[in-house]
Amino acid sequence: MKSELVLYNTLTREKEQFRPLNPPFVGLYVCGPTVYGDPHLGHARPAITFDLLFRYLKEEGYKVRYVRNITDVGHLQNDSDDGEDKLEVKARLENLEPMEVAQYYTDRYHRAMDELNILPPSIEPRASGHIMEQIELVQEILDKGFAYESNGSVYFDVEKYAAQHDYGQLSGRRIEDMISNTRELDGQSDKHKPLDFALWKKASPEHIMRWKAPWSIGFPGWHLECSAMSVKYLGEEFDIHGGGMDLMFPHHECEIAQNTAASGHGAAHYWMHNNMITIDGQKMGKSLGNFITLDEMFTGKHKMLSQAYSPMVIRFFILQAHYRSTLDFSNEALQAAEKGLARLMTAIETIDKIMPGETSSVDVADLETRCRDAMNDDLNSPMVISALFDWVRIINQLHDGTQTISAEDLDRLRKIVHRFVFDILGLRNDDAAEKNDLVAPLVEMLLGIRQQAKANKDWATSDKIRDELTRIGIEVHDRKDGYDWSLK
Ligand code: ZN
Repeated sequence: MKSELVLYNTLTREKEQFRPLNPPFVGLYVCGPTVYGDPHLGHARPAITFDLLFRYLKEEGYKVRYVRNITDVGHLQNDSDDGEDKLEVKARLENLEPMEVAQYYTDRYHRAMDELNILPPSIEPRASGHIMEQIELVQEILDKGFAYESNGSVYFDVEKYAAQHDYGQLSGRRIEDMISNTRELDGQSDKHKPLDFALWKKASPEHIMRWKAPWSIGFPGWHLECSAMSVKYLGEEFDIHGGGMDLMFPHHECEIAQNTAASGHGAAHYWMHNNMITIDGQKMGKSLGNFITLDEMFTGKHKMLSQAYSPMVIRFFILQAHYRSTLDFSNEALQAAEKGLARLMTAIETIDKIMPGETSSVDVADLETRCRDAMNDDLNSPMVISALFDWVRIINQLHDGTQTISAEDLDRLRKIVHRFVFDILGLRNDDAAEKNDLVAPLVEMLLGIRQQAKANKDWATSDKIRDELTRIGIEVHDRKDGYDWSLK
């Protein structure tokens, strides 16, 4: 299969032609959530970025196995090797089993992803369900001599690894700088060197989640699960590994080191990282008071929000920026996105009202070429949206008769727009869905009576129907050939 897709590979810092190892199959692994709290804006961006990739690859004819994990064990506070497990802290506070916490927030995460119209991955493995695989991987790394056991815990020997391999190849950090920038160990740790990271931790007496391993009763280090589960489901080498830029170091760098230590080479050929979001120019954080969950976005219940924003507005807003650019959330920017999305959806409805002519004065192929070229250029969704907006103007001209289109081209235009807007960008026309329910036949009935009243020059009745509909949020637009209506 010939693909024109070019992706920016974080590993080589270059845009590269996408060449799958085993076409038409594509293996895609993305780091999923740690399930100890409500899904928030920070979860939306990677989910939407890799949903866009997943959808586009499938549209291009690839058979994609998309693996996105659930971290339910081993992710300690401050992403460190010491401290408490994030899930256990929550479980203790709420007097729950850790797996109850994981289940509850996994369900919440799935619900939010559904709202954002994110397709479920092909496989969603949990770290706690793959302890055996992780223990085996620790043993392999020990056997290869890149790890050591210390007081029941096992640590990855970073300096020994770096002497033979490139530790820092993904994040661009240099081992010399890392060594000089780390603090000396305080003598409390079982680690030999500050840069070493945990593969297996011996559980302290109060630690709840624990499994039996050759070295101690304990639990796996956080970086281990992705190395073990990606290889289990996608093979020792696979195509694409994705995640947020904040995971590049240490998480992804450690993943590469673990896989390389065990098998002699890294697992993923392309690494993709989405950039982070800011809120009113600031990093999002619980301590800054600008931490907004997706539920709060959808309901508007947060002191920083001046209104509710629908999941599709959030999705559209995120797609308006390239995934490698930073993205700043503000009420003004979201309101602009809301208006833009409404214009786009209205234009899509307008396509169905266009009367075709004998010939076309517009070039439909141009839209398709521009959208495909933009997607092929490292998933440039803002360029796709910009092409679509040029066509919103043209669609309106076709509707008011200043341009013409043949029946064949009109059908093609409808297909291209639907494919890019609904199938690839993954947007939904929620207004149309709402309109199609009970509301639509009732509004149509009232507007039919209004047309009758207008024909009888009964302006009082005609105005009353329009005003009453406006009052309940239904806008009526009079047109030469009849009327149109929309939900405000
Ligand atoms: Zn991961």
